Amino acid sequence: MTKYTVPRGTRDILPEEVALWQFVEQKAREIFDLYNFREIRTPIFEHTELFLRGIGENTDIISKEMYSFQDRKGRSLTLRPEGTASVARAYLEAGRGQREPLSKLWYQGPMFRYERPQAGRYRQFHQMGCEVLGATSAYQDTEVIVLAQHFFESIGLKDLEVHINSVGCPTCRPVIKERLKSFLGDNLDSLCADCRKRFEANPLRILDCKNPQCNEFFVMLPDISDVLCAECKEHYHDVQNYLNIMRLKYKIKPRLVRGLDYYTKTVFEIISAHLGAQNAVCGGGRYDNLIKELGGTPSPAVGFAFGLERAVLIMQNQKVSVREHRPYLLLAPLGENAGNRAAILANKLRRRNIPLEIDISSRSLSAKLKTADRLGVRYAYILGEDELVDKCGQLKDMQGGSQKKISFEKILEEIENRYQKYRRENK
Ligand code: ATP
Ligand code: MG
Repeated sequence: MTKYTVPRGTRDILPEEVALWQFVEQKAREIFDLYNFREIRTPIFEHTELFLRGIGENTDIISKEMYSFQDRKGRSLTLRPEGTASVARAYLEAGRGQREPLSKLWYQGPMFRYERPQAGRYRQFHQMGCEVLGATSAYQDTEVIVLAQHFFESIGLKDLEVHINSVGCPTCRPVIKERLKSFLGDNLDSLCADCRKRFEANPLRILDCKNPQCNEFFVMLPDISDVLCAECKEHYHDVQNYLNIMRLKYKIKPRLVRGLDYYTKTVFEIISAHLGAQNAVCGGGRYDNLIKELGGTPSPAVGFAFGLERAVLIMQNQKVSVREHRPYLLLAPLGENAGNRAAILANKLRRRNIPLEIDISSRSLSAKLKTADRLGVRYAYILGEDELVDKCGQLKDMQGGSQKKISFEKILEEIENRYQKYRRENK
């Protein structure tokens, strides 16, 4: 028999793990609300040109990681490798810049990059992220950093570090690049093949190399922030100032760069001590030229995205557990007539918003009580053939073990009251 497996670099998320995902997604939505971000949903594929222009031709994503294909009319389309370019496109297309001076948007969904799969690195992975478009103030940079940290704390993540840097702007970037090149020039042989290629095409990207041998060498490199222009220096100073007054702990990482070309000025990452090699749980920064690059009126912006796989992995490694949603009640009819009665009751109870399961099988009572245990329900309502005569069932407390006879007429109200009390107590 043919065995089907998931494609390399993708994975199924089974119900036990989905509970963690839902928790993370729910918390993120709450935090986005707190900071007044509104959700935006964009297509999963876009014109390839959008990413070429937005992300930059000399980045890893563009040069080797895109899932691009031609549609039936020969157009080149690409499964989105990240969310920012799409959000910026949608913002421009809808003319939102003219309608609101500041657009605070968040998104979530699968992203696709043809990378080498390993722990915490997939070919289909999921991000949630936010973008502030029209973000002129350095305060906006720090608001997204604070939001990210706030969110990770809300899902119970510990031992995180916020790393920040400034990668300059078109004024100072050429100086930064030249400086790097003059330091690296004599030592090109010590770098990996990829870095040697980046030397000409995009020397700043060398600093983002994951090769340990290259990394050892980087320690000797100059700090890029030394050569920032006056405007970038001031901005960087303001960012640190806001972070300081908001009491957010951070580390200045003078060699931190990011994998996408659109970043200007502030870049940041949050890393976790519980992730191993792929230690960044989120990354972001300012991108003042992306909107202009995509043909819009220049509009400064800042944002970040986090990887759900990595957030969930940290929770698992830290043994953070969440309560999975479970049915409250199991209806356990014995025999066909009882089954009919149970179907009617199930229907009525569910209309009253009581989460329940019904074991309609012909198995024995003790087998059905085992189902109740496995499901973790609070009560089982047993409908025996005998009890049908006086229109009653037995409500069994699955925690205490006690049992009480309750009529079909009363059971709806009874369960509803108990469930509401349980909800109040377990908020
Ligand atoms: P990394 O340095 O780990 O490759 P990146 O710089 O490519 O990350 P971004 O493009 O900024 O990351 O994406 C933000 C976040 O999305 C990352 O911090 C990470 O949590 C997650 N992420 C990125 N690529 C992957 C992937 N291939 N698999 C799983 N998660 C990913
Ligand atoms: Mg990457």
